Amino acid sequence: MAEATDMPILLVGGGHAHVEVVRRLGRGPVGRKIILISPARHAPYSGMLPGYVSGRYGFADFHIDLDALCARCNVTFLATSAGGIDPDRRQVSLADGQVLDYCLLSIDIGSTPQLPADVSGGLSVKPIASFTQRLAHLDARVAQSTGRLRLAVVGQGVAGVEMAFALQRRFGAGRVDMLLVGRADAVIAERSRLARAMVRRELARAGIAHHQGFDVIGFDAGTLLARDGRTLSVDDVVWTTSSGAPAWLGGTGLALDAGGFIRVDQALRSVSHPDVFAAGDVASLPDPRPKAGVFAVRQGPVLADNLRRCLAGEDPRPFRPQRQWLALIALANGRAIADKWCLAASGRWVARWKHWNDSRFVRLYQDPDGQLSGSAGNKQR
Ligand SMILES: Cc1cc2nc3c(=O)[nH]c(=O)nc-3n(C[C@H](O)[C@H](O)[C@H](O)COP(=O)(O)OP(=O)(O)OC[C@H]3O[C@@H](n4cnc5c(N)ncnc54)[C@H](O)[C@@H]3O)c2cc1C
Repeated sequence: MAEATDMPILLVGGGHAHVEVVRRLGRGPVGRKIILISPARHAPYSGMLPGYVSGRYGFADFHIDLDALCARCNVTFLATSAGGIDPDRRQVSLADGQVLDYCLLSIDIGSTPQLPADVSGGLSVKPIASFTQRLAHLDARVAQSTGRLRLAVVGQGVAGVEMAFALQRRFGAGRVDMLLVGRADAVIAERSRLARAMVRRELARAGIAHHQGFDVIGFDAGTLLARDGRTLSVDDVVWTTSSGAPAWLGGTGLALDAGGFIRVDQALRSVSHPDVFAAGDVASLPDPRPKAGVFAVRQGPVLADNLRRCLAGEDPRPFRPQRQWLALIALANGRAIADKWCLAASGRWVARWKHWNDSRFVRLYQDPDGQLSGSAGNKQR
């Protein structure tokens, strides 16, 4: 094992919180080597993925080059993934065979798709980092099809709604019949009644068939099967269903919640191992919140500060997640819906606002030299 003073800070996962940690800790000397580990060099910003699908954005518009960001911020980037943690020995094992010691470890690896058990086929939106490749297969399928394809998006949360509009836009109503399918009795059930009514109206206007209360338990040979026995014939499925925890965390000895996510205290510190932090989807907060990028983004500054404080022997500060947060739902037709505090509005100005908000976030990490004095997190949603 390395001497305690030689041990680096390990940041596992290039998620929305860690890009801000890299940017902030890279600004000033922390007295430790910092290493970011993430399998893909380019990290996507999920809020702009539907815009990529609809054709509004190119790949570079919504990806952060982690290698370049790290190089500018004096952080070492390793393009591999972590597969094991021994928190008692303070070691992380990597897919490339390396075992790294750490003085502090932070984990921001997102969540994994959770599909019904009896599923053979379709494409999952998660992991988002590789969705652009899976989408290419769907492009080829639509291009080769002689007739119209019936394409279902399963999951009617904000991500599912945005994907249904975006895919309809990508392929055109003449090439595909879009369906939006979900278990709950309402679309975007977690948002305001007004926003739900707006989404229903937009779905009808776009000709997207909506099947709510359809709890999918299987997909095989072109048939979606619901728990109550109903079926839907579809040619392909895009899964935007709820998120699960990365399974390998189960073998780490870190305290996990019932869903397998890392239990942290208010300061984003593991409740079982105080030299381990977690943020984003993979963290289970004492006062839980839905798995949404807004929390990962807002945790970034607190996490960076707390890593610095821990090294200095100071108490970490709490992260206080907001109860209400803004949703900006892209309709892929130049308009978007904004929803917060039971108030909702839609229009082109909302789409312009969303574009400004999202692209500002990505630019902060694409060009950290030009904007190092900027502040991420506060302006996000
Ligand atoms: C289509 C879609 C649209 C969405 N839009 C919104 C939105 O508008 N607003 C919102 O708040 N939320 C949105 N979400 C939810 C949002 O995507 C997630 O909540 C957010 O990405 C979580 O961020 P994160 O930092 O936890 O992880 P991620 O952004 O998922 O990043 C995790 C990173 O860790 C890396 N990684 C994974 N495993 C390992 C490993 N073993 N070792 C090392 N690295 C690893 C991954 O490659 C990735 O770079 C959307 C989701 C989808 C699917």
